[in-house]
Amino acid sequence: MSQLELRNLRKEFTGGGESVVAVDDVDLTLNDGEFLVLVGPSGCGKSTTLRMIAGLESVTSGDVIVDGESMTDLEPRERDIAMVFQNYALYPHMTTRENIGFGLKMTTDLDSEERNRQVEDVAESLGIEELLDDYPKELSGGQQQRVALGRAIIRDPEVFLMDEPLSNLDAKLRTQMRTELKALQDDLNVTTVYVTHDQTEAMTMGDRIAILNHGELQQVGTPLECYHQPANKFVAGFIGAPSMNFMDVASKNERLIHKMFDYEISEATAQAIEGYDRVTLGIRPEDIRIVDGSDVQNPIPAEVHLVEPLGDVSHVALNIGNKRFTAAVPGGQKFDRGEEVTLHFPEDSLHLFDAT
Ligand code: ADP
Repeated sequence: MSQLELRNLRKEFTGGGESVVAVDDVDLTLNDGEFLVLVGPSGCGKSTTLRMIAGLESVTSGDVIVDGESMTDLEPRERDIAMVFQNYALYPHMTTRENIGFGLKMTTDLDSEERNRQVEDVAESLGIEELLDDYPKELSGGQQQRVALGRAIIRDPEVFLMDEPLSNLDAKLRTQMRTELKALQDDLNVTTVYVTHDQTEAMTMGDRIAILNHGELQQVGTPLECYHQPANKFVAGFIGAPSMNFMDVASKNERLIHKMFDYEISEATAQAIEGYDRVTLGIRPEDIRIVDGSDVQNPIPAEVHLVEPLGDVSHVALNIGNKRFTAAVPGGQKFDRGEEVTLHFPEDSLHLFDAT
């Protein structure tokens, strides 16, 4: 049970006269037993952050603190932190039993009987007790992933770090392992930082998520907070699938003005965006209504470009002037390509950002 603090953690890589700020003063506190997902696009600094926590990468400045004690100057093996990698990093010449028990053998003086007992306990908790005498090449991707987890769990660490641990699995297994991993972490209650570029993984697994872009933290919050109250346009566009739709509009006299429509907003909304000259209007696909006729407040004319039926829901690509939007509507609604339709954007589902 441990609290993990990152204090103004910074990493600059320099070489050939160039300097890259990979992690830009990241400040973050994880509570005891919390599962925090660090998420962001490729190259935003997730792995570097994780490697600094593990001690595999030096910090340029800042501190990594576990339970009030700075780890920053400790070697990786002196930190009570276990890391699970994307490629599992199992020893190919060792059986499951040897792979899981290896750390114990190196770092404790337990006799082989006690080691075996602990390995068998961990294997049982992961449902791989039948595989103890198999070598990695005899195991499926999902089974190898469990062995890698077993190797981390048996150390009973203060903190778990996981770097895209599911990304080498096929889609179906990934979904299944997502649930299993989350349940396992709930049981073990070990403070965990889980890195992924996949917003679905972040939304479904994190107690909280921390969204990183260009090395800077954009927002830290529960998945629903980040979804409903995105701190900025980047978070709004990154969280949620399909992505939020955006278009720039002018704001004047309690109206949002676009060449295709003129949207009258409430006084409260107008106050919230006071001082914005141009506004980026965002709306999630599931919040767009395609309505009959134009007998609706603030109608927006559009043309159906393409319909993608997915069963219970259809994704409809729409042209609003020359701007392409996506709506997610109930699967029963039928549209033809090229059909002229009217859209309704409920005011309480608008996300408005300063576009200047
Ligand atoms: P992510 O894990 O989010 O994909 P990384 O932490 O791997 O991002 O990388 C963040 C940034 O730091 C990238 O611009 C990457 O090119 C750069 N970077 C990472 N490692 C090194 C390194 N050893 N030397 C120089 N630049 C690096």
